[in-house]
This record gives sequence, C-alpha cells and structure tokens, in this order.
Amino acid sequence: MREAVFLDRDGVINRVIVEDGQVRSPRSFAEFELTDGAAACLQAIRALGYLVIVVTNQPDIARGKMSASDLERMSEVVRSRLAIDDMLVCPHDDVHNCMCRKPKPGMLLEAKEKYDIDLGKSYLVGDGWKDMEAARNAGCRGVLIGADYNKGVECFKRVEGLEEAVRLLSGNGGGQEMAIFLDSGNIEEIEKYLKLGIVRGVTTNPSILLRDGVTGGMAGIKARCIEIAKLISPYPLSVEVTTNDTKGMLKQAKELAGWADNIVIKVTVHGPKGELDNLAVIHELETKHDIRVNVTAMMSAQQCFLAAMAGGTYVSLFGGRVNNMGYNCVDEIGKLRLLLDNHDLDAQIIVGSTREVLNVLEWLVAGAHIITATPSLINGMIVHPYTKETVRQFLDDSKKL
Ligand SMILES: [Mg+2]
Repeated sequence: MREAVFLDRDGVINRVIVEDGQVRSPRSFAEFELTDGAAACLQAIRALGYLVIVVTNQPDIARGKMSASDLERMSEVVRSRLAIDDMLVCPHDDVHNCMCRKPKPGMLLEAKEKYDIDLGKSYLVGDGWKDMEAARNAGCRGVLIGADYNKGVECFKRVEGLEEAVRLLSGNGGGQEMAIFLDSGNIEEIEKYLKLGIVRGVTTNPSILLRDGVTGGMAGIKARCIEIAKLISPYPLSVEVTTNDTKGMLKQAKELAGWADNIVIKVTVHGPKGELDNLAVIHELETKHDIRVNVTAMMSAQQCFLAAMAGGTYVSLFGGRVNNMGYNCVDEIGKLRLLLDNHDLDAQIIVGSTREVLNVLEWLVAGAHIITATPSLINGMIVHPYTKETVRQFLDDSKKL
C-alpha cells in the first residue's frame, strides 16, 4: 500500500482572490496564479516517497460562474508545472448531493481504490473546514494551512504554509529521511544537483564560500546565502557564524537566521581554546529564539551527544577527520545513533568531511541521518565504467536492429 499527500487546490497551491473582504477561488484563467513555493514543495513531498494527489471542489462550474475551458487551462498549468501524480476535480454544488464534493470523502476514496492508498498513513493539506472534514471522513490526517479566514477550524495540525507542511511530513515517517546535503556555495552547481532530485539540503562554511567566489565580506555572504536559500527552499541551508565571541555569535546568528526561513546556523561545539560558552549559545538560540542550529566541528559521539542534549537540531561529526586520526567513524556513528534513539533526542546526525565515495552509504547504514558530499563524490556514486560500456553496447546494437 502507498501513502499519499492529498492537496486542496485553491489557497494551497494557487492564490485565492480577496474581494470586498471575502475569499474566493479564481474564476478565470487570468486570475489563476500558482503560489511561489508550490513547485519546490510538491517536489519535496514526492521525494519523501508520497503519492501527490490534488483534490479540488470547483462548484463555480455548476454555478455557471466559470467556464469548463478556463478550468481546463488551470488544470493544464497544475499538471505541467507541479510534480503531481493525479488531480481529481468535483464540478458539482451542494444541490447535486454527489459523493465527491468535500467534506464528503469521495475523491479520496476513489484515489484509494485506484492507487491502493493507506489512508490511515496519509494526509490532506488544505485551507478550509471542508478539507479538514473530508480528511476526517476518509480517516486521514488533515493539515491546515493557517490563514485569517480559517481561524478556529479543527485539524490534525495547523501550519504557517506549505513549506512548514513539508517539514511536518518529513518528520512523520512514511518516507525516506534526508540523506544527502550538498557541500557547495556555487549556484549553478546546486541547481544542477537539485534537478537530479537527490539533494535534500546544502551546507556551507567560510572556506566553501571563498572557494565558490564569494567576496565583499558579510554583504557578499548575505547575497549568496539568500540566493541559495530561495533556490533550495524548503530544504535547509547551513550558514556558519564567523566569530567566536559569545555576544557576537548570538547577534550574528540572529542576523543570519533572519535572511530566510530555511537557514540553519552552524556553531562549533567549542571555541579554539576549548571555550565552553558555545554550548550556552546553541542552547539559547534553540530554546529562546527558535533558531535551528547545526553544531559543527565534532570528532566524537560524546561531543555530538552533549550537543544534542543542549538542543542542537543537527549534530555534525567530521567523519574524514575521525578516520584520519586512526579512529573508525562507523563506530562513533553507531554509538551516537543508539544514544539519540535511547534518550529520545530529536537531533539529526550529519556526517561531513566525507573523503571517499565509499563513506556515503557506509555512514548512512551505520545510522547517520545525513551525509554531506561534494559534487565530485556524488558523481563518483552515480557513474560506473561498466554502466558506460553497457549503455554504449545497447546504443550500438540498437543501430543494428
Ligand atoms: Mg481551498
């Protein structure tokens, strides 16, 4: 059985029209506009392993307020620009007493039969009470995109927007975990690997940004980071603070986090002289300022465990450096994962400073949630000389048929 994320259309993947204080659906193709983050969010939902199915009431057809051809043009935009598996449309009004008009669960039940969906493990993301009621009637979880016009609507979970819905879905099982973050500050490079569908986040540090041509001090870092954050949203972008003074780190972390919603702040576990204040900064950012922290430059499970206790969302182990010192990183990852699971700590293990192609799967199997990899390591995972030879053979033989 598959798990699905059903999405309402108006107010979720496209804008609603506000007229005289009233909210309504677009009635002509000219009024139809997808929301900014819809394409990336739907792609992310699909990458989590869910079927993506749009279920929409369009009573304006029955009411004679919208033509079938305008609706078809809107549907064409949804099908061609968004990563969906199907779209079910109810063109009826209440008087028709059909089975498909939400809050009735007809469209969800139809999809269940067609795709063998486990509704108990599926979600409906919508912006109205009819969506949430349809979810309940079908036995799936209703996620409400909060807005002024739907305050007080009962739901499984209320979220700020589609981006937050993706974060909720990625933390609720039913799909794969994050797996690979790209180590890069180069826009073309990030774009290229995002299109391949195999990247779930980007990590940077001052050395990576310098290598990838960032100049102009903090203004240069800001411009590049905002560009990357927008490109990869809703996936996270890690950006490192450039100071080790306690007050300076707090001030800078707040500034960097304000650049975009998906920015995570990298703070080293302690200072260059072993100063312990960094953990206090990490704890304060996570608990008092609601800022996500990636605790970095760690070489052992014990460091990562304490960083997780302090509240770090991500704990980064420098795998290549651990191995360089003669310790086996696999052992550290295994111990750390066991500790986090046994103590109910939510931190995600990132293993970085990845040196060999072999490390990526080896460390994921050992229990890491995420591996950071450079583009050349990812290429090394994909391209195989025998695959090249086989493809060449297929192409040559196809010419002889
Ligand atoms: Mg709606």
